[in-house]
Amino acid sequence: MGKMLLHCCCGPCAMYPVDLLLTEGRDIDCFWYNPNIQPQFEFDRRHENLQKACDHYNVRLISEGSECMQDYWLSKEYLNEFASRCEMCYDIRMDHVAKFASENGYESFCTTLLVSPYQQHDKIAEISGAKASKYGVKFDYMDFRPGFRQGQDMAREIGLYRQKYCGCIFSLEESKFRDKIYKSFE
Ligand code: SF4
Repeated sequence: MGKMLLHCCCGPCAMYPVDLLLTEGRDIDCFWYNPNIQPQFEFDRRHENLQKACDHYNVRLISEGSECMQDYWLSKEYLNEFASRCEMCYDIRMDHVAKFASENGYESFCTTLLVSPYQQHDKIAEISGAKASKYGVKFDYMDFRPGFRQGQDMAREIGLYRQKYCGCIFSLEESKFRDKIYKSFE
Protein backbone atom coordinates (compact mmCIF):
# COMPACT_ATOMS: atom_id res chain seq x y z
CA MET A 1 0.00 0.00 0.00
CA GLY A 2 1.33 3.47 -0.89
CA LYS A 3 1.89 6.45 1.34
CA MET A 4 -1.04 8.33 2.89
CA LEU A 5 -1.18 12.05 3.64
CA LEU A 6 -3.15 12.44 6.86
CA HIS A 7 -4.59 15.90 7.30
CA CYS A 8 -4.63 16.73 11.02
CA CYS A 9 -6.89 19.38 12.52
CA CYS A 10 -5.15 19.28 15.93
CA GLY A 11 -3.02 17.12 18.21
CA PRO A 12 -5.78 15.46 20.25
CA CYS A 13 -7.76 14.47 17.14
CA ALA A 14 -4.57 13.07 15.57
CA MET A 15 -3.80 10.66 18.41
CA TYR A 16 -6.22 7.82 17.69
CA PRO A 17 -6.03 7.91 13.87
CA VAL A 18 -2.21 8.01 13.85
CA ASP A 19 -2.04 5.21 16.42
CA LEU A 20 -4.48 3.08 14.43
CA LEU A 21 -2.80 3.66 11.08
CA LEU A 22 0.67 2.90 12.44
CA THR A 23 -0.66 -0.24 14.16
CA GLU A 24 -2.02 -1.30 10.77
CA GLY A 25 1.43 -0.81 9.30
CA ARG A 26 0.47 2.15 7.14
CA ASP A 27 3.07 4.58 5.85
CA ILE A 28 1.86 8.10 6.68
CA ASP A 29 2.89 11.73 6.80
CA CYS A 30 0.82 14.16 8.85
CA PHE A 31 -0.26 17.43 7.28
CA TRP A 32 -1.22 20.72 8.89
CA TYR A 33 -3.43 23.05 6.88
CA ASN A 34 -6.06 24.78 9.02
CA PRO A 35 -6.40 28.48 8.13
CA ASN A 36 -9.84 28.43 9.78
CA ILE A 37 -8.40 28.56 13.30
CA GLN A 38 -8.63 31.90 15.04
CA PRO A 39 -7.09 33.86 16.65
CA GLN A 40 -3.41 33.53 15.77
CA PHE A 41 -2.47 32.56 19.35
CA GLU A 42 -4.82 29.58 19.14
CA PHE A 43 -3.62 28.72 15.63
CA ASP A 44 -0.03 28.54 16.91
CA ARG A 45 -1.01 26.63 20.05
CA ARG A 46 -2.85 23.92 18.10
CA HIS A 47 -0.03 23.66 15.58
CA GLU A 48 2.56 23.23 18.36
CA ASN A 49 0.49 20.54 20.03
CA LEU A 50 0.09 18.66 16.78
CA GLN A 51 3.88 18.70 16.47
CA LYS A 52 4.06 17.18 19.98
CA ALA A 53 1.65 14.41 18.93
CA CYS A 54 3.73 13.70 15.81
CA ASP A 55 6.94 13.66 17.84
CA HIS A 56 5.32 11.19 20.21
CA TYR A 57 4.74 8.82 17.30
CA ASN A 58 7.89 9.78 15.42
CA VAL A 59 5.82 10.71 12.37
CA ARG A 60 6.75 13.50 9.98
CA LEU A 61 4.61 16.63 10.09
CA ILE A 62 4.37 18.80 6.98
CA SER A 63 2.92 22.25 7.65
CA GLU A 64 1.42 24.64 5.15
CA GLY A 65 0.16 28.11 6.03
CA SER A 66 1.55 29.94 9.02
CA GLU A 67 -1.41 32.21 9.65
CA CYS A 68 -5.11 31.96 10.29
CA MET A 69 -6.97 33.53 7.38
CA GLN A 70 -9.12 36.20 8.99
CA ASP A 71 -10.08 37.60 5.60
CA TYR A 72 -11.61 34.36 4.38
CA TRP A 73 -14.36 34.55 6.92
CA LEU A 74 -15.19 38.12 5.94
CA SER A 75 -15.60 37.27 2.26
CA LYS A 76 -19.36 37.13 1.84
CA GLU A 77 -18.94 36.30 -1.85
CA TYR A 78 -17.14 33.10 -0.98
CA LEU A 79 -19.60 32.21 1.74
CA ASN A 80 -22.47 32.49 -0.74
CA GLU A 81 -21.09 29.55 -2.72
CA PHE A 82 -21.73 27.15 0.15
CA ALA A 83 -24.70 26.00 2.17
CA SER A 84 -22.96 26.72 5.46
CA ARG A 85 -19.73 28.12 6.83
CA CYS A 86 -18.67 24.61 7.92
CA GLU A 87 -19.12 23.32 4.37
CA MET A 88 -16.91 26.16 3.16
CA CYS A 89 -14.38 25.37 5.88
CA TYR A 90 -14.19 21.69 4.91
CA ASP A 91 -14.01 22.59 1.22
CA ILE A 92 -11.09 25.01 1.61
CA ARG A 93 -9.09 22.55 3.65
CA MET A 94 -9.81 19.35 1.72
CA ASP A 95 -9.16 21.07 -1.60
CA HIS A 96 -5.67 21.99 -0.43
CA VAL A 97 -5.00 18.58 1.12
CA ALA A 98 -6.04 16.66 -2.01
CA LYS A 99 -4.03 19.00 -4.25
CA PHE A 100 -0.93 18.64 -2.08
CA ALA A 101 -1.29 14.85 -1.95
CA SER A 102 -1.66 14.63 -5.71
CA GLU A 103 1.27 16.95 -6.48
CA ASN A 104 3.60 15.26 -4.01
CA GLY A 105 3.23 11.61 -4.96
CA TYR A 106 0.96 10.32 -2.19
CA GLU A 107 -1.28 7.40 -3.04
CA SER A 108 -4.09 8.66 -0.83
CA PHE A 109 -5.21 11.16 1.75
CA CYS A 110 -7.49 11.16 4.77
CA THR A 111 -8.34 13.57 7.60
CA THR A 112 -8.57 13.42 11.38
CA LEU A 113 -11.76 15.46 11.10
CA LEU A 114 -13.33 12.01 10.66
CA VAL A 115 -12.62 11.15 14.32
CA SER A 116 -14.92 13.78 15.76
CA PRO A 117 -18.57 13.06 16.56
CA TYR A 118 -19.06 16.86 16.59
CA GLN A 119 -18.17 17.37 12.92
CA GLN A 120 -20.39 16.79 9.89
CA HIS A 121 -18.88 13.41 9.12
CA ASP A 122 -20.83 12.60 5.94
CA LYS A 123 -20.27 16.07 4.50
CA ILE A 124 -16.51 15.81 5.09
CA ALA A 125 -16.47 12.42 3.36
CA GLU A 126 -18.54 13.73 0.44
CA ILE A 127 -16.33 16.79 -0.08
CA SER A 128 -13.13 14.75 0.27
CA GLY A 129 -14.37 12.27 -2.33
CA ALA A 130 -15.09 15.10 -4.76
CA LYS A 131 -11.63 16.60 -4.19
CA ALA A 132 -10.04 13.21 -4.78
CA SER A 133 -11.71 13.02 -8.20
CA LYS A 134 -10.73 16.61 -8.98
CA TYR A 135 -7.03 16.02 -8.32
CA GLY A 136 -6.70 12.34 -9.30
CA VAL A 137 -5.69 10.96 -5.91
CA LYS A 138 -7.44 8.42 -3.68
CA PHE A 139 -9.49 9.49 -0.67
CA ASP A 140 -8.98 6.71 1.86
CA TYR A 141 -12.18 7.02 3.88
CA MET A 142 -11.93 5.86 7.47
CA ASP A 143 -14.48 6.20 10.23
CA PHE A 144 -12.28 6.95 13.22
CA ARG A 145 -15.21 7.94 15.48
CA PRO A 146 -15.25 4.77 17.64
CA GLY A 147 -11.81 5.87 18.89
CA PHE A 148 -12.67 9.47 19.70
CA ARG A 149 -12.74 9.11 23.51
CA GLN A 150 -9.68 6.88 23.50
CA GLY A 151 -7.82 9.48 21.47
CA GLN A 152 -8.78 12.25 23.89
CA ASP A 153 -7.55 10.12 26.80
CA MET A 154 -4.28 9.45 24.98
CA ALA A 155 -3.88 13.21 24.42
CA ARG A 156 -4.41 13.84 28.13
CA GLU A 157 -1.84 11.21 29.01
CA ILE A 158 0.91 12.93 27.04
CA GLY A 159 -0.14 16.40 28.23
CA LEU A 160 -1.53 17.84 25.01
CA TYR A 161 -3.59 21.02 25.07
CA ARG A 162 -7.24 20.12 24.37
CA GLN A 163 -9.28 23.00 22.97
CA LYS A 164 -12.85 23.83 23.90
CA TYR A 165 -14.09 25.18 20.56
CA CYS A 166 -13.97 24.02 16.97
CA GLY A 167 -11.67 26.68 15.54
CA CYS A 168 -13.21 29.72 13.84
CA ILE A 169 -14.15 32.90 15.66
CA PHE A 170 -17.85 32.04 15.32
CA SER A 171 -17.41 28.77 17.18
CA LEU A 172 -15.39 30.58 19.85
CA GLU A 173 -18.15 33.14 20.35
CA GLU A 174 -20.76 30.37 20.56
CA SER A 175 -18.79 28.30 23.08
CA LYS A 176 -20.12 28.07 26.60
CA PHE A 177 -16.47 28.37 27.67
CA ARG A 178 -16.06 31.66 25.77
CA ASP A 179 -14.87 33.78 28.71
CA LYS A 180 -12.48 31.11 29.94
CA ILE A 181 -11.04 30.73 26.44
CA TYR A 182 -10.45 34.47 26.05
CA LYS A 183 -8.69 34.47 29.42
CA SER A 184 -6.35 31.74 28.20
CA PHE A 185 -5.13 34.10 25.43
CA GLU A 186 -3.92 36.68 27.97
S1 SF4 B 1 -17.35 25.55 13.39
FE1 SF4 B 1 -15.47 24.40 12.90
S2 SF4 B 1 -15.88 23.38 10.93
FE2 SF4 B 1 -17.40 25.00 11.20
S3 SF4 B 1 -16.55 26.78 10.18
FE3 SF4 B 1 -15.94 26.93 12.31
S4 SF4 B 1 -13.92 25.96 12.41
FE4 SF4 B 1 -14.86 25.34 10.48
